[in-house]
Amino acid sequence: MKKVEDYVRSIPDFPEPGIIFRDVTSILQDADGLQLAIDEMQHFVEEVDCDVICGTESRGFIFGMPIAYNLHKPFVPIRKKGKLPLETVEESYDLEYGSATIEMHKDSIKPGQKVVIIDDLIATGGTVEACAKMIERLGGEVTRIVFLMELAGLKGREKLAKYDVKSVIRYD
Ligand code: IMP
Repeated sequence: MKKVEDYVRSIPDFPEPGIIFRDVTSILQDADGLQLAIDEMQHFVEEVDCDVICGTESRGFIFGMPIAYNLHKPFVPIRKKGKLPLETVEESYDLEYGSATIEMHKDSIKPGQKVVIIDDLIATGGTVEACAKMIERLGGEVTRIVFLMELAGLKGREKLAKYDVKSVIRYD
């Protein structure tokens, strides 16, 4: 039987020479691959206390939403700056060149709620660290962070050392 990693397409030299891009579209476009990926990520969510699932734009939505639906939990989208209509909290983080800002609605997390963050992939960990900071500023507690893929060489886990981090597929 195929494992979830068998569905990942690895593309050399994208978006720049020397980078191996791990493509999730090849998982999504296969019904078995999609189901396996969601099931395995969901298993990690079911192991911890969770009131709310947060997903990061945009691939965190793809994987977070079906898990929230399956487990009958609310889903909170963490968006790129400028997309949300009401009062928000925001956080900026460094990219390889420049920085990015993400935000979430102030009323999306209630103090004391237990939150699981979902994203497709951890590279440096900067994106999800920014998500966790916002959730904590709203009084939420991050009980776990679940990724489909982990690029272990970029040491994102070290940045997220104070969190419980799980990934389904690890690339060394
Ligand atoms: P980080 O903030 O450095 O951990 O970067 C994580 C973000 O970069 C994720 O949301 C991914 O969508 C994106 N990313 C980085 N490398 C890859 C890759 O090889 N495949 C797919 N997405 C990637």
